[in-house]
Amino acid sequence: MELLTEIAVRKAAHSKIKEVNFDELEFGKYVSDHMLVCDYSVTAPMADNGWDQPMVVPFSNLSLSPAALALHYGQTVFEGMKAFRMQDGRINIFRMERHYERFARSLQRMCMAIPPREIFVDGLVKLIEVDQAWVPDGSDAALYLRPFMYASEAKFGIKIADEYRFVIFTGPVNELFSRPLRVKVETEYVRAAKGGTGAAKCGGNYGGALFPTRLAREMGYDQVLWTDAKENRFIEESGSMNVMFVINDTIITPPLSDSILDGVTRDTLLVLAEEMGYAVAERPVSVEELEEAFEKKTITEAFGAGTAAVVAPIQMIGINGNDYTLPAYGKQSLHETLKRKLHAIRTGREEDKYGWNYIVG
Ligand SMILES: *Cc1c(COP(=O)(O)O)cnc(C)c1O
Repeated sequence: MELLTEIAVRKAAHSKIKEVNFDELEFGKYVSDHMLVCDYSVTAPMADNGWDQPMVVPFSNLSLSPAALALHYGQTVFEGMKAFRMQDGRINIFRMERHYERFARSLQRMCMAIPPREIFVDGLVKLIEVDQAWVPDGSDAALYLRPFMYASEAKFGIKIADEYRFVIFTGPVNELFSRPLRVKVETEYVRAAKGGTGAAKCGGNYGGALFPTRLAREMGYDQVLWTDAKENRFIEESGSMNVMFVINDTIITPPLSDSILDGVTRDTLLVLAEEMGYAVAERPVSVEELEEAFEKKTITEAFGAGTAAVVAPIQMIGINGNDYTLPAYGKQSLHETLKRKLHAIRTGREEDKYGWNYIVG
């Protein structure tokens, strides 16, 4: 593939791929041999747009000043997407464009420099080309791609940084969760408020979520289901997934707002569900509505949607101390059907009608 960006490559002396057990790809455990690094400076005298030449280098520790602004004031943003091994052996980055656009929106919200599209796209392509052996071909497996950026400028007064580092690393993964989830509707702590940064994939959102998630784990749940910051009355999303409910045979998901992350998987599933003829609604879902739906048995499924989790069935929802169990799921469950369709498109077994696949080669 012809790239517009010149990317220098310094290869690792030894590959670590032999240390990987591809039959047990625990999420987040393995990283591939290389990473892409590209620096930005407002004041770079030589560069035309402030961006250095990107480089593919061996995966290694980053060096940064203790005064690096990211460490203190939280200018960090990340993305998460996946590359799949297709049926014919080629490699597909799923919905790369949409991830780039969201990356740019998150960066803008955090006052950070935005890497040009070519650096993002060509950087990913080059990196995957160099580490193509790391793209697994198991049915639930993929190469997880983690582009991120942080304020690297060393200055300890709070300010918008003038220097940033853009990095991409990758690692083979299976789906995040291996069994159906127990979630707790959270009504004390909040993840994001109107006007805040909930719609940005910035590091701080996750740091703040750890404590309430730990409390929920101590109570026997896997994750929290966040509610709105104002009234704790409407469901928002889960830890790193958007959520969907099937009530009266309609797939319902809360509408996007500035306190909900605009998930690419969410969007994909909504498009596919409509195409497959399911009734779909983006509308507020209140906690009372869920309780009522459980009492009347009109709720038949609940699931999370995200790149890491893919489609993650929810088995139980804790609401105000009552644990409500969802009916058992089978192959014919709606979320299973959607997941199979998504998988078929990403691996080239079904037509890519919407131009979601970006074939690397
Ligand atoms: C990344 C993320 C999601 C899911 O987004 P995808 O694009 O589908 O991976 C949902 N919620 C939060 C908070 C996230 O960080």
